[in-house]
Amino acid sequence: MKRKSKATLGAALLMGAMSLGSTAAAAPCLEVVLTGVQGGPPVFRGQAGSGTLVRYGTEENKCSDVFLQFDTGRGTTQQLSKLGVPAGKLTAVFFSHVHSDHSEGLPDLMQLRWHFGSAGPKVDMVCGDDVTTPKGYTMSCRSFGENIGAALIASGEMAQRLAENPKRLPGGPADLLNIKTFSAGDEPQIVWEKGDVTVSAIKSRHVAGHASYRVDTPAGSVVIGGDAGNDKPAPPRDSSTSAQVEKLAQGADVVVHSVIHPIMGPDGASGFPPPIYYRQSTATDLGAMSKRAGVKHLMLTHHIPPLGAPRQGPYPVSKTGLTAEDYVDAVRQSGYEGDVVIGPDLTKLRLVAN
Ligand SMILES: [Zn+2]
Repeated sequence: MKRKSKATLGAALLMGAMSLGSTAAAAPCLEVVLTGVQGGPPVFRGQAGSGTLVRYGTEENKCSDVFLQFDTGRGTTQQLSKLGVPAGKLTAVFFSHVHSDHSEGLPDLMQLRWHFGSAGPKVDMVCGDDVTTPKGYTMSCRSFGENIGAALIASGEMAQRLAENPKRLPGGPADLLNIKTFSAGDEPQIVWEKGDVTVSAIKSRHVAGHASYRVDTPAGSVVIGGDAGNDKPAPPRDSSTSAQVEKLAQGADVVVHSVIHPIMGPDGASGFPPPIYYRQSTATDLGAMSKRAGVKHLMLTHHIPPLGAPRQGPYPVSKTGLTAEDYVDAVRQSGYEGDVVIGPDLTKLRLVAN
């Protein structure tokens, strides 16, 4: 069963390699890396928390001009290190939402950058504006960024480190963030640009302030759906996927999306809370969306449940858990015939312009 999932992955990598053969060394190159595929706050077998690295450059420099990190779950710094991408190399960091499993790696990443890179450059931190919900709480990506050093300032660590090296920035790691927020709407808007790389965002439903992104480059395009679900919070509805993400995904080469397997639904025996199940997109519905939007590669991340996990947090799955094939089978039920890629951490897909 595992062999089949590797074959699926092999096909994805081969498609990138096929276009490699016929191109000059300076051909534009886009690489998408799943830095962490863990679904939600649990941890299983050392999987990193949610995150995707999108790198762009030329074939000659191995896609190394621009490094964009989408979400920074637990362990993101370690994962980038395995890829040979130092914390100081990131050009910009984008957040789908500020749930901890998507954001808790940022303090770690930025503290490292502060230790050795206080001279700059700063890193752009891009996310939605503050949103206050009807229940009276506010989701604030900006406050999260501004306070990433708070615990270390409170502990005295920051003052001690500054005393031994006054060249470090006095406000701690937050001083290295260039926070740019946007008011997300129902139509895509450009939120970040550099050279040939354009990033657009659209509002999508999951929790307040959730946004999905699309990166366009001369080598191809990739949509980062995040944890998006349908605007209708529960059935009856056409799909569990987001109409806004589908709009963003029209003609995209790659969609990276959080996935939940139908086994976690109310019809199964897991006891997983239905409202949490319904706010994610199912594997089958993601296949259907990808088919409608003409997406070539569907990369599944934020697996609920993780591959091989007997439970998702406290909720039982089965003795041996799900295989990659179980996820791919659920996607294929939609009739989607494109490439399906499902983790592990650090799974890559490279596109090179012809
Ligand atoms: Zn979430």
